[in-house]
Amino acid sequence: MERRIYGIETEFGLTHSAPQGRPLSADDAARRLFAPVLAWGRASNVFLPNGGRLYLDVGSHPEYATAEADSLHDVVAQDAAGERIVDDLRAQLQQSLDAEGVAGTVHLFKNNVDSAGNSFGSHENYMISRRTEYTRLLQHLLPFLVTRQILVGAGRVHPTGQPAFGALTPGDGSPSYSFSQRADHIWEGSSSATTRSRPMINTRDEPHADAQHYRRLHVITGDSSMSQTTTALKIGTTDVLLRLIEAGQILPDRTLADPAAALRTVSHDLTGTAPLELASGERRSALELQQEYLEAVTRFVDRHGTHHDRLDWVLELWERGLRAVAEQNPSLVDRELDWAVKKKLLDSYAAAHGMDYSHPRIAQLDLAYHDTSASHGLFHMLERRGAVESFVAPEDVSRAVSQAPPTRASLRGRFVAAAHDAGVNHTVDWVHLKLNGERQQRTLRCTDPFATTQEDVEEAIRELARGDV
Ligand code: ATP
Ligand code: MG
Ligand code: MG
Repeated sequence: MERRIYGIETEFGLTHSAPQGRPLSADDAARRLFAPVLAWGRASNVFLPNGGRLYLDVGSHPEYATAEADSLHDVVAQDAAGERIVDDLRAQLQQSLDAEGVAGTVHLFKNNVDSAGNSFGSHENYMISRRTEYTRLLQHLLPFLVTRQILVGAGRVHPTGQPAFGALTPGDGSPSYSFSQRADHIWEGSSSATTRSRPMINTRDEPHADAQHYRRLHVITGDSSMSQTTTALKIGTTDVLLRLIEAGQILPDRTLADPAAALRTVSHDLTGTAPLELASGERRSALELQQEYLEAVTRFVDRHGTHHDRLDWVLELWERGLRAVAEQNPSLVDRELDWAVKKKLLDSYAAAHGMDYSHPRIAQLDLAYHDTSASHGLFHMLERRGAVESFVAPEDVSRAVSQAPPTRASLRGRFVAAAHDAGVNHTVDWVHLKLNGERQQRTLRCTDPFATTQEDVEEAIRELARGDV
């Protein structure tokens, strides 16, 4: 497949803290956060004019799913725009609470664990061809996903050491840092259920496209990324490896004996050298496996050429990220990769104040790194100081707040905007656009995720503009 569709779903953490007063419960905070959404779209599950989806599912974690993007640039911009959209709701809620005289601060976090030990997700979506042998693809992809956290993990402080598996609270021991937030909460390799069994890949067959030709690979094991460059590396490396597998390239079988156990081992081993047992009985470290994938991909690209203009950037950062772990020198990537950016911040604070990672202040800073607020989030503070790299220009993020990428999302975005302007009731999902007008009820199907024009949709938009619906 020449072009690919990508999408990222992010669940956010939301808290109201009021040391002096009574904080809102998580449910109340979420409900109030969505009041403007409800007013705008008459539902707490809406598609926006930029083609993305904003919703409040069961529980109290607001979720944003980016529109379908067909380039690394656009998926990073859409993801950053989503953070901005939800953070804007946070700012509105803060304002109304202030106006009511309710004490306290609303915090929105782009991370994957809350203080009670609950975990919430970040999903990556990659469109793949139905022709690709799915079991072979999963076989090669799983060891990659298990080990890529040494590059794209979000980093996590464990004040009392590595948590015992299954425990809500950390076990005892000396304080530590792990590559990933989510690794301690994943229980098996792949499954069709997202919640109870906590797999790495959700195999539920829901392509959101013509099922004869396409599948949607639904990766649910990753950490959310604050850093744009970490997002870009996460999607960029996975995409190019998928390309290699799709091309039928032979890779050695590195099936892991116990993928979920390996995920936790890798997360807690900052040296990258802990041996992982393979189904074959051999052993390989995370660094060795990642180096093997990088070499295979580099050979593949040398032979087949680059398929997008940021691929050299991806390969360079991939190589440098592995070198940073191999040489135990995080400063090689402490402007680009979340785990290293955050570790640098925590290390310098701990050193300046003579504390170690067991101090509650360090856990607070770990959390504050993921705070989406431009004024008090620590990642955004580093961004403002020029201490981290970006992947897309700020104006591209601003544009992505209201504009869809040049894919099917642009059809949806224009449809939603037109229906909204005309005040016509409509329901939308990734494939369907449905008008529930007084004079007309109609459902349009958009099964090609790459299509930016489709005659029946254009016609409906014209009718909406004329007030004929
Ligand atoms: P859940 O929230 O239970 O995981 P889901 O993954 O189906 O369900 P959404 O939150 O609606 O639900 O997110 C779908 C994601 O898939 C979006 O980011 C979207 O851009 C992306 N997407 C849509 N169509 C395709 C496609 N054909 N191929 C790959 N990704 C797609
Ligand atoms: Mg979702
Ligand atoms: Mg999903």
